Amino acid sequence: MKVRVRFAPSPTGGLHLGGVRTVLFNYLFARANGGDFVLRIEDTDQNRFVAGAEQYIMDCLKWCGLEPDESPEKGGPYAPYRQSERKHLYADYAEKLINDGHAYYAFDTTEDLEKMRKEYRRDDNTNPQYDHNTRGFMLNSLTLPPEKVAELIACGTPYVIRIKVPANETVNLTDMIRGEISFDSSLVDDKVLLKADRMPTYHLAVVVDDYLMKITHAFRGEEWLPSAPVHILLWEYLGWQECMPQWVHLPLILKPDGNGKLSKRDGDRLGFPVFAMNWTDPKTNEVTKGFREMGFLPEAFVNMLAMLGWNSGTEQEIFSLDELVHKFSIERVHKGGAKFDFEKAKWFNHQYIQHTDNTTLAKLAKPYIDAGLSTGNSQLELLNTVIPLIKDRCTLLPDFWTQGHFFFTTPEIKEEGAIKEKWNEQKQQFFASWANILSGLANWNQSDIEASFNEELPKYGLKKGDVLLPFRIMLVGGKYGPGVFIISEVIGKEETIKRIRSVINWF
Ligand code: GLU
Repeated sequence: MKVRVRFAPSPTGGLHLGGVRTVLFNYLFARANGGDFVLRIEDTDQNRFVAGAEQYIMDCLKWCGLEPDESPEKGGPYAPYRQSERKHLYADYAEKLINDGHAYYAFDTTEDLEKMRKEYRRDDNTNPQYDHNTRGFMLNSLTLPPEKVAELIACGTPYVIRIKVPANETVNLTDMIRGEISFDSSLVDDKVLLKADRMPTYHLAVVVDDYLMKITHAFRGEEWLPSAPVHILLWEYLGWQECMPQWVHLPLILKPDGNGKLSKRDGDRLGFPVFAMNWTDPKTNEVTKGFREMGFLPEAFVNMLAMLGWNSGTEQEIFSLDELVHKFSIERVHKGGAKFDFEKAKWFNHQYIQHTDNTTLAKLAKPYIDAGLSTGNSQLELLNTVIPLIKDRCTLLPDFWTQGHFFFTTPEIKEEGAIKEKWNEQKQQFFASWANILSGLANWNQSDIEASFNEELPKYGLKKGDVLLPFRIMLVGGKYGPGVFIISEVIGKEETIKRIRSVINWF
């Protein structure tokens, strides 16, 4: 049987890194097994629908290089891939469940439900559910005579269809990560399957579509485990047990301190992204930062995610996507949650920057450099020269600007104090005279610049250590950057002399 997996997000907002990891594991599993990877948009809950979220999800997958084989955009043999466009498919299955005695019509109003919750609330049951304990007292086709049910439906009374979950049964699930798991059906509520607007709920739609789309393995976050018994019962009641996918509930991604699931709010609070790409809430216009805009390379982001909950069993941490396809195995996915570590995420990005060729890096860095320049346009040739000089200092793409701006524009001197504190007459004379010598230098290259520097120094009783730092600050504006002589070579004679003279003019 051909392996078929799916990522089935509800388009409700930004794509959490846990969601991208689910995409990644789906993708790796599909590629490793010659299977198909399907993107299915689960948009049946109109109340939670958020404009733009679907396009955003597709853009995230594109950015990560984890594109599906079948999707709303691409189409495919099981189209449509958007549940709202499959609306007509689900009601018949809900009716079939009713006919087979596994579901029922329920006419209760919101007030009825509220009343039931109040009436059955006990110290040991603070949130009574619609289930085997309570359904016998509610307004549904189990308690009403068939003529009444027919009449209510005929006169247009709103109703939902609920699954009839039996009491005292054990529902078993085999999970590829967690092994055997049993649920006590008495604790499972009679979930709504079809809503009053005839739209299916997630529970019905996910089962029907996994069946119709011939999904063989269902990867999803551990947070869906409590819903699994309902899904398993539906597979059984619909007579599709033979076709049920294998379940793979992925461990949670935890807060850095390990206390609970990592949320968008943790990111805001601790200053790191939790979404793959910037997400703008269409209602509030609030922007939540993404890994892409923070300056992560998609390959580094994906590699980092692979290591959240999986390991290869070796010390190796850097894997290309191709390598991951070959090495990934579900057996090596951990059961326990994986703590998110932003410093480690940055480490991956730094590693990838070091291993990316300079021409590619120049293209990636250009927008950040251009954004900082008043001209808004850096020369690619200069970029190509600068990239190898600064890449080892760059962790995120915006660092190419912070670490390299002085190659493109005269910097603002941020370390004025460090120069002024130790300035003296010898330094003043040295720099004035050396600037003159530089203007006559025949070959403008770092070794000739350095040679003239070394030759001039002793004449003023100075050592390298006395003037290298002030010279660096003149060129860079701060106490960082690559070697001063190579900086001088790259920015050119005129600019080097200008930067020296503008500082000696302070005194
Ligand atoms: N639509 C669900 C979600 O939003 C999918 C859960 C599943 O994969 O079964 O995550």
